[in-house]
Amino acid sequence: MGWRLWAPPITVAVFLIGLAQYSFLAFHTFAELFAIVISFLIFAVAWSTRRLSRNNFLLFLACGYFWIGALDLIHTLVYKGMDVFVEGSGNLSVQFWISARYFEALVLLIAPIATTRSQNGYFLVTVFGTIALGLATVILTGNFPVGFVEGEGLTKFKIYSEYLIDLILASALVALFHFGRNLSPGEKTLIAASIFMTMCAELMFTFYVDVYGVSNLAGHIFKLFSFWLIFQAVVISHLKEPYAALQDSEEHSRQLFKNAEAANRAKSDFLRSMSHELRTPLNAILGFAQILRSDPKKSLSPYQVEHIDHILGGGNHLLELVNQVLDLARVEADKLDLSLEDVDVSEVVAECVALTLPLGEPNGVQIIDEFIGGPSTHLYVDRLRFKQILINLLSNAVKYNKHGGTVIIEGSEVGDDVLRLSVADTGIGIADKDHSRVFRMFDRLGTVSTLAHDGAGIGLTVTRFLVEKMSGRIGFESKEGIGSTFWIELPLVTSGQVVTGEITRP
Ligand code: ADP
Repeated sequence: MGWRLWAPPITVAVFLIGLAQYSFLAFHTFAELFAIVISFLIFAVAWSTRRLSRNNFLLFLACGYFWIGALDLIHTLVYKGMDVFVEGSGNLSVQFWISARYFEALVLLIAPIATTRSQNGYFLVTVFGTIALGLATVILTGNFPVGFVEGEGLTKFKIYSEYLIDLILASALVALFHFGRNLSPGEKTLIAASIFMTMCAELMFTFYVDVYGVSNLAGHIFKLFSFWLIFQAVVISHLKEPYAALQDSEEHSRQLFKNAEAANRAKSDFLRSMSHELRTPLNAILGFAQILRSDPKKSLSPYQVEHIDHILGGGNHLLELVNQVLDLARVEADKLDLSLEDVDVSEVVAECVALTLPLGEPNGVQIIDEFIGGPSTHLYVDRLRFKQILINLLSNAVKYNKHGGTVIIEGSEVGDDVLRLSVADTGIGIADKDHSRVFRMFDRLGTVSTLAHDGAGIGLTVTRFLVEKMSGRIGFESKEGIGSTFWIELPLVTSGQVVTGEITRP
């Protein structure tokens, strides 16, 4: 902190001492006003940032200092020579002064003890406000002990009060170090220094005989420093430290994000190269198994043929998975290129239905093509990827269907030249609570992989990416136990808006 901490109050102090040479009243007014402004600032900063601070010690002080500032303001206005709203007298301003100092010392003493529990700001302001108004009423109605007698100087009450206030402040110092566990060492040092300055100020005020004397001047300068130090503690605790912590955590999250991105890239690269590497030996296994299976000399026993069929079945399934993983890795790395062409939708739908029909046979699931395309139902899409989308939706509709269920594919034009294709099934459906997870990568919604329900939870992630990459949308409606309808919407060729899609990253 160093000179930055001390420069403002020292500058103000030099200005005030200079001013005192010309007019003590001006000095006093400005010295008090500076301290009052600081006390209001303490309150404004602490109040508006109270949710940022780690402790409520300073909020407690700030609510107190607001009212101390208010009492000091009256003290300034009734100072001898001011005559603002009552005829200024030495005694009246001393009385306001001494009550504000009692108040200040007690707030400093109680703060570390009271703030071990959480505080309600509104409650504090109300309680302190009531005390301050009570004190002002007692003084203005003439019920407060006399503090100053013109010509004689300070009364015993005033002098002993200053000693008593010093004693309270010394106890406040002890309490601060004993109870102020929540405070940082920096905050503690500033508050302790502030209490010490107030003690010095009080000692100065026991000396003077004339309210315009030198010790009075020194006392006000000490007071200015003590308020300034509390203000610094509030700024450090409520602004500087939270901001520094925020900056640190922002930097930390940026670093974490970078690491996560790098790890994700490494994972995609790994998946891509692994799937490539796996496909070569897998194709060799499948190729040789097919050669063996063809068995032109009929030399294989039925037992051996059955085993080769297992190799082919398992191998094809594995190849499909590897291809899906490869697609996903490409999608993630945005390395999936589309080659767009004019595609007749009815033709592709019929092809896909024909390809998926055999999947339904073991379970008696029927696939019905109800798509009636006109001559204008053409899409400008990647033919292979479009087929992949439809096959994926159709095979899911078969896979998650009931025995003897049906799957219907149909299409209609919606909105501005947009084609909606939907695949409806009478299957197991998806529970409402799982709807948000359907397109999530590797999420199978708790489906256990069995022969009927094999999969890896990648199909719909890739499907959504492909649809969006072709400027389309995908969605579904589903009721558990009744069935699901998955739909895609793609712009028809006539609409002329193609491949500018917003991609939702998997
Ligand atoms: P996979 O089928 O390989 O598990 P998908 O990404 O294609 O992966 O589907 C994700 C999950 O969504 C599936 O595991 C399944 O639980 C659910 N699901 C997909 N399509 C349907 C459908 N037509 N009916 C019921 N559930 C479905």
